[in-house]
Amino acid sequence: IREWVSDYCKRNGLLTLSVLAVITGCVVGFMLRSLNLSTQAKIYFSFPGELLMRMLKMLILPLITSSLMSGLAAMDSKASGRLGLLTVTYYLWTTFIAVIVGIFLVLIVHPGTGTEKEGHQSSGGPVMTSADALLDLIRNMIPSNLIEATFQQYKTDLVPLVKSTTKESQANYVYIMPDYENPRMGHPVFLELTPAPEIQYKIVPGNSKQMNVLGIVIFSATMGLLLGRLGERGLPLVNVCQCINECVMKIINAAMWYFPFGIVFLVAGKILDMHDPAVLAEKLGMYFMTVLAGLFVHGVILLPLFFFILTKKNPFSYIRGLLQALVIALATSSSSATLPITMKCLLENCHVDRKIARFVLPVGATINMDGTALYEAVAAIFIAQVNEYDLDFGQIVTISITATAASIGAAGIPQAGLVTMVIVLTSVGLPPDDITLIVAIDWILDRFRTMINVLGDALAAGIMAHLCRKDFQKDFPKNTERRDTV
Ligand code: ASP
Repeated sequence: IREWVSDYCKRNGLLTLSVLAVITGCVVGFMLRSLNLSTQAKIYFSFPGELLMRMLKMLILPLITSSLMSGLAAMDSKASGRLGLLTVTYYLWTTFIAVIVGIFLVLIVHPGTGTEKEGHQSSGGPVMTSADALLDLIRNMIPSNLIEATFQQYKTDLVPLVKSTTKESQANYVYIMPDYENPRMGHPVFLELTPAPEIQYKIVPGNSKQMNVLGIVIFSATMGLLLGRLGERGLPLVNVCQCINECVMKIINAAMWYFPFGIVFLVAGKILDMHDPAVLAEKLGMYFMTVLAGLFVHGVILLPLFFFILTKKNPFSYIRGLLQALVIALATSSSSATLPITMKCLLENCHVDRKIARFVLPVGATINMDGTALYEAVAAIFIAQVNEYDLDFGQIVTISITATAASIGAAGIPQAGLVTMVIVLTSVGLPPDDITLIVAIDWILDRFRTMINVLGDALAAGIMAHLCRKDFQKDFPKNTERRDTV
């Protein structure tokens, strides 16, 4: 028994602790809600969770740059071209399938029928159009300043608009920019006014204080490809990148033991901050269940099925190796923040070739968001149903295309999908302000869709490793990789 326990702890101890941490966080969060803690107390309480997020975010930049540069430099041009084409095609295909699943379900379940638009008013203010969002996407692909790209990107923000209820300032609105460095991790900060203010949202284009991951991915991939062409002369830089990569993985290994502790406070802090959960009991609950059902069908049935068809391997034993990453995705709602753990799981548990993982994962965490695409399609049609707005076939096709594009443009950070949904809504003439209808429960749906986003990337890496295995069997003279993976 002792041997079994120590063997189990070695193999699954961290995972078990992480799952227990999510459960404990939920229980503690709900228990503390009744105490009505002050904002200050909540911030102090969430501190260990904030540290966890900071640790993960700290690793994103060195991991993406070193992975892509060393990974691509080690491939020959034919192999990298084929891998790139296959990966992007697969990503687009699965994202589109996810959108179709979402549309199918929301049209069958019809969750928006009969929903009252209570407490919601359209502010009718200026809104961003799909074209603006598309330009933002392209701007982000070509950052004008690489240093700036590590802490800033072009992104339209959803800004809470708090209407003061006091007489003197009736005409005044207080804008509070979402503070992504705030312990509440990317969620808008609300002013606490008495009586409770009526909260509306406004879409404001501008710079966001988030890292421009897309720009960094594109730059690093280009550098990696060119480094590979330099041959012997490029080796010193390739070696530096590999050393950075190995060090990052070592940091992750050490930090992993902190994660369960951080997760308890991360989850509990979010529950403390949550708005009235009773909202779930109403019609919105149907919408919630529709998104969850779609994510389930896509993540548990379709993606594993594609994996099986393309690799002839058991997808569920592969997914077992990814559980740690999925729990972190659930706890952090960020596929970028989960990237280091996903990489670790792929290399150590799923034994995916590191050159392939180093390319497929960072690209996937940036552009492949099946869960987000599915949710955007469901949410847009739900909003149309609430507005009793009949969508014709052409508009549904438009939603499917724009939801796919919007998910590509969404950053791998908490609730990014909520913002890029503006593209989908405006493309069919729906009021973007109606995002307020779903905002209350978005934070929880975000956790589940992030899990599916991470799962999609990791399964893709397994598929690509299988499809491109022949290209990577030959070793290149310039390749200094340790070949300890299959
Ligand atoms: N939170 C998601 C992610 O990081 C993006 C989103 O759907 O909001 O993958």
